[in-house]
Amino acid sequence: MKLSFHGADRDVTGSCHLLEVAGKRILIDCGLYQGSRDLIQDNSGPFGFDAGAIDLVLLTHAHLDHCGRLPLLRKRGFRGEIIATTATFELARIVLLDAAHLQEEETRVRAPATPQAAASRQPLYGVTDALDCIGAFGRSARYDAPLQLAPGIEVTFLDAGHILGSSSLMFELNEAGRTRSLIFSGDLGNAGRPLLPAPEPPPHAEIVVMETTYGDRTHRPPAASADELCEAVAATLRRQGNVLIPSFALERAQEILYVLHQAVASGRLPSSLQVFVDSPLAISATEVFARHPELLLPAVAAQFSAGQDPFQLPGLHFTRERAASIAINAVRSGAVIIAGSGMCTGGRILHHLRHNLARENCSVIFVGYAAAGTLARAIIDGARDVSVLGDRVHVGARIHTINGFSAHADRDELLAWRRRIAPTRTFLVHGEAPTMASFAASLTGAQVEMPTLGQSYEL
Ligand code: ZN
Repeated sequence: MKLSFHGADRDVTGSCHLLEVAGKRILIDCGLYQGSRDLIQDNSGPFGFDAGAIDLVLLTHAHLDHCGRLPLLRKRGFRGEIIATTATFELARIVLLDAAHLQEEETRVRAPATPQAAASRQPLYGVTDALDCIGAFGRSARYDAPLQLAPGIEVTFLDAGHILGSSSLMFELNEAGRTRSLIFSGDLGNAGRPLLPAPEPPPHAEIVVMETTYGDRTHRPPAASADELCEAVAATLRRQGNVLIPSFALERAQEILYVLHQAVASGRLPSSLQVFVDSPLAISATEVFARHPELLLPAVAAQFSAGQDPFQLPGLHFTRERAASIAINAVRSGAVIIAGSGMCTGGRILHHLRHNLARENCSVIFVGYAAAGTLARAIIDGARDVSVLGDRVHVGARIHTINGFSAHADRDELLAWRRRIAPTRTFLVHGEAPTMASFAASLTGAQVEMPTLGQSYEL
């Protein structure tokens, strides 16, 4: 039995782990590197294993940093089955098509002058490749129902409470009479959030592979963050400015909508509030949420079953088309604009930043993780001027960071989750190196590893 690491090693993106057991090669996630330009270039490099030799891919959830290299895996010869929960498949489908479309567009926009140079700058994959990959989506996993993958290999998907359909994976392995129990955390959620239940308590296992995104800090409670958000919006309305919320399209955008819906329904924010969801991806993802009330908290599911839409607001506009998005530029005050990307590395948020970031009566509210090297991180860290779409833009707007919306468990939640498992061996992944080192220092009495890219271990 062998476990090797091919992404998100002492880093937060590009999750990809390979389990070799009982004659099978099983990949857990195949994510895209995101963040700085150097990292993005790593996406086209070798996987570190033969794509054609992989039998199965188990997908923990539909975030791009967990599923975004799947079409490339297919392109490079993977012919096996992809297994995930139904909601993960539905979200991954729109996420992968969106990523493919963006890559095709980027290659077109930045097309080099000569045909030779153009040939050397192909997109990582295109829409056809993404569709081909979606064709490899196989069995849907149900939470808590063990799946026999092959003789000696059983896996159970556990609700990870991170985004809709997200899972931790519990393996029971038997290779020639040698048994091992092993849990991959996937990304773990943060308890007390508005839409999803807390991560399911995990069973005991000998080995754990776990994320450490926020392994060195604790979050404010989500309810306090909802208050903070409403207060920042109300204050910006009083200053007659706009609020920009750079947001991940999955989960965060829906949580923000839900909080705004509640605030308008209770009279805390005016019903004249104009809210623009300027992200085709977020719009499609919101539709998937409406199809899966069974995965939501009972109070939210009850609204759906009573025929109400908990994401609806009187002044809500979904802007799919580019022309409608551009029209938002004329709105000078009284609007909340939710657009991607969450880390401001691309997407429609850049246009809104160009029009609003310098204006002192506006606000930018960051509600998610911002990796080092991204525009979001530069603004959060207090840059006075930043480059947006090639222009120097002064940061005049008020900047808020509200981390209680995080879809990730904080240090105390990660520790509590791991304590239940009581593993004898722990592999830490999906965290920046200093965060991971700080988290490792709080683990005692067990073997702790922090693998580097390509490192492999006998289990
Ligand atoms: Zn995630």
